[in-house]
Amino acid sequence: MKEMKKFLAFLFMTTIFIIAGCSAKQNGAGNVSGVFNGTGQGIHGDVKVAVTLTNGKITDVSVVSHNETPNISDAAIQNIPKNIVKYQSLAVDTVSGATVTSNAILNAAEAALAESGANVAFFKNAVKKAAAKKKAVTKKADVVIVGAGGAGLAAAVSAKQAGASVIIVEKMPSVGGSTIISGGQYNAFDPGRQHKIQIRKGNLDAINRYINAEPANDLHKELIEKVKAQLKEYNDSKATYTFDSAEFHALQTFEGGDRVGNLELVYQLTQGAQESVGWLESIGVGVQEFVGMVTGSMWPRTHQFEKPLMTGPIEAYMAYLNGAKDCEILLSTKADELIIKDGKVTGIKASSVSEDYTLLAEKGVVLATGGFARNPELIAKYDIHWGGLDGLGSTNHMGATGDGIIMAQAAGANLVGMEWIQLLPVGNPETGGMSGNISINAANQLFINLEGKRFVAEDERRDNLTRALLAQPERKMFILHDAHEYTSGDVKNDFNETIDELVAKGLVVKADTIRGLAEKMGVNPDNLVKSIEEYNEAVDGKIKDPLNKKVMDKRFDKAPFYAGIRVPTIHHTMGGVAIDKDARVLDASGKAIPGLYAAGEVTGGIHGSNRLGGNALPDTVVFGKIAGASAASAK
Ligand code: ADP
Repeated sequence: MKEMKKFLAFLFMTTIFIIAGCSAKQNGAGNVSGVFNGTGQGIHGDVKVAVTLTNGKITDVSVVSHNETPNISDAAIQNIPKNIVKYQSLAVDTVSGATVTSNAILNAAEAALAESGANVAFFKNAVKKAAAKKKAVTKKADVVIVGAGGAGLAAAVSAKQAGASVIIVEKMPSVGGSTIISGGQYNAFDPGRQHKIQIRKGNLDAINRYINAEPANDLHKELIEKVKAQLKEYNDSKATYTFDSAEFHALQTFEGGDRVGNLELVYQLTQGAQESVGWLESIGVGVQEFVGMVTGSMWPRTHQFEKPLMTGPIEAYMAYLNGAKDCEILLSTKADELIIKDGKVTGIKASSVSEDYTLLAEKGVVLATGGFARNPELIAKYDIHWGGLDGLGSTNHMGATGDGIIMAQAAGANLVGMEWIQLLPVGNPETGGMSGNISINAANQLFINLEGKRFVAEDERRDNLTRALLAQPERKMFILHDAHEYTSGDVKNDFNETIDELVAKGLVVKADTIRGLAEKMGVNPDNLVKSIEEYNEAVDGKIKDPLNKKVMDKRFDKAPFYAGIRVPTIHHTMGGVAIDKDARVLDASGKAIPGLYAAGEVTGGIHGSNRLGGNALPDTVVFGKIAGASAASAK
């Protein structure tokens, strides 16, 4: 009898499930009305979403709370909820550049639908989009800018400041490009800030190498003489603050790129970098007072902005442009080709899902399309120095496919330095991105291989750092910092992630002793202890650092200790279209192509064979500003 009861109960339950299942399959949420909540996992924790159902139809999706990085996640937060309602589906496209946030919203919406009792599978039907006939649209402005990353937006602000009307096209659904996801490190000579920072006298020795070098040309000679005089004055005054100048920055940039770069452009960059700190502040960008030394920057002149990553400058550019007259930004609109009439660039052809644009430029077109790190074909075509870059990740956003280089080449532009591709030793092992990188001060960081040993001077150039890492077991290393940098669990890396958050995610390990750290890293504790003891002796000046690290600051001795695993990743493409000091694009004979300007990573010839860490952002600002002004005056 008992058995029979069990069987009947089973039959009853099965029937309910079948009925519920059948009815749900016919209609995803039956006639349910109400608001249902769900949670998804974003980059910085929970993303909470409320889904409103009215008679079984999704009538509203709202992101109730989140902690995602502003700007980078904006397009996902705006578009994913809208599209779920529009298509009554969770199978909507994620937003490029904000995939994690997109998926967090989709997962949260799915959880909310599940809470309503709906048949979630019903809402996963493929989205059917009607193939709309495209509209032909013609627009005109003084200046047309291709790309709304760092260089494009700086060019737009500068063109507006020069009184020009502006149209900007951006192929992605949001602005910022690779610039906005960079760590926001900005090198510039800045006496106001650098004079507040003391320098270790030993660090000054590093200058000798630059001022005792055989000059490559007259400008090089002139810069060396200037730096010698500046150093003499500095020493005579018995100063103890950080020595620097635009000329010394230029020497380091030129030598750091193996003299491959064009020194005229380099000097333009370093002089402009200094002046541009004030320009950024004038449009509302908050700049931190502390000046540090990002990995591969070679000198303590790296500024950080107050807002995380590069969101501060990008937000300020957008606020300026949104408040300006005669300025239009076309998102999700890709420039396909340049319009050339009688050898002059007069506009571009661009396209979006619903429009075919002809955008005419009365005065000039600025190419600011970024680099080609995400274009495996171009990488394979031009790489001659590394070999075997297939399969490596990249720190860049997905739109870094070299479009501007291809368009400019069709207009007769000369390409320079295309073979110089920069790898970084600090990629996330899963994505190649910068997330989880705890390096915040090269002077105090240690690079440790899987054997628990240091293998390179951590203040070296990026190419040397990466080459050294490529030779290590499994091409992997740990970056170590201690509580001199991470003074509490709330201290953030340069990518808006707190150290506690990274430890919780398992991207970083933490311990109170070196041996404890070694165990968590899975490396030989004796080796690690020995490496660190030796390092500390070098910091104390008792021995010369065996790896010849020059800029050292604190002993590695303050618990807690942190270690995060990193791999090589493709970061920056130094080559691109040739430009002159006015950001005019040059042809193979060195003549400017009328109507065509370029700025940022799409250009070549500035950083030579190796770009110093922290020099890309000043490049976007300095040459973006110049390109905008040059185009506005049809220079
Ligand atoms: P940079 O640092 O040189 O400014 P970024 O990567 O920050 O480079 O910005 C380049 C921008 O140009 C990106 O937002 C990218 O999506 C955009 N872009 C690239 N190719 C095109 C194209 N064909 N049409 C429109 N925008 C483009």
